[in-house]
Amino acid sequence: MGDSEIQHYLNRNGFERCALKAVLFDMDGVLYDSMPNHVRAWAGASGEYGLHLTREDVYMNEGRTGSGTINLFARRQWGRDATDEEIHAIYEAKARRFNAMDEAPVMPGAPELLQTVRREGFQIILVTGSGQRSLLSRLNHAFPGMFHPDTMVTSFDVTRGKPSPEPYLKGLHKAGVRPWEALVVENAPLGVEAAVAAGIFTVAVNTGPLPDNVLTEAGADRIYPSLQAMADDWHHLQSALQ
Ligand code: CA
Repeated sequence: MGDSEIQHYLNRNGFERCALKAVLFDMDGVLYDSMPNHVRAWAGASGEYGLHLTREDVYMNEGRTGSGTINLFARRQWGRDATDEEIHAIYEAKARRFNAMDEAPVMPGAPELLQTVRREGFQIILVTGSGQRSLLSRLNHAFPGMFHPDTMVTSFDVTRGKPSPEPYLKGLHKAGVRPWEALVVENAPLGVEAAVAAGIFTVAVNTGPLPDNVLTEAGADRIYPSLQAMADDWHHLQSALQ
C-alpha cells in the first residue's frame, strides 16, 4: 500500500487525511462470484428480445440498473429507448434465468475479510445495484450477522444507479460517515467510477476478465488481483487509511 496512492486520493479530493470508519462493499463480483451467472442470464434474456449483449458488454456495464442497461443497448442497436413494457419483459426474463441457475458461490476471502473488518470495529455497508431478491436473501445465510436492511443500499433505494455517485453517497449517509472516513471495495468500472465520484478511497478487486487498466482509468486508487489478495493485505491497507 503506497503512501503515494493515499496522497493522490487526498489531493484529488482536497482532503487533509483519511480516518477509516466504514467499509462499503459492492456485492456481485466482490462478495459473490456471481458475474458468470449474470452474463449467461443477460445474454439469454436480451437475445429473446433481439438485443445482443456479449460477456464483455455485461462486465463493462455491471452496476448499471436493469433499465439503464436495457436502454443503453436498445439505443445502440435499435436507435431508440426501450419501452417500459420491453424493459419490464427483458428484466423479468433476466431475473427468471438468473434465479433458475445454481446459486453463485461466495467469493474466496469474503467471509474472512468481513469478519476481520467487523472484529476491528469498522462498520460494514453493502452498496449494490442489484435488485435480485434471491441474492439479497442469501446474505444473512452466507455472512451471518454482517448485513441488515439499515446498512444496505440496493437498487430499491436509489433513483440513479452506478456510475452515479448516488448509491455510494447513500451508503455514506447510512454509515453516518464522511468520504475520507470510508473505503469502497468494487470490481466493476462503473462501480469504481461511482465510488470515486462520491469522493471515497476506492479499492478495485479484479475478479473478472477485464484488463486492470479499465479499472485504473475508471479511477481506482488501488487494485488487487482477487478479493483474497485484498483480505491478505488488509492489515497494511487499514493501517495506511487510519
Ligand atoms: Ca460488482
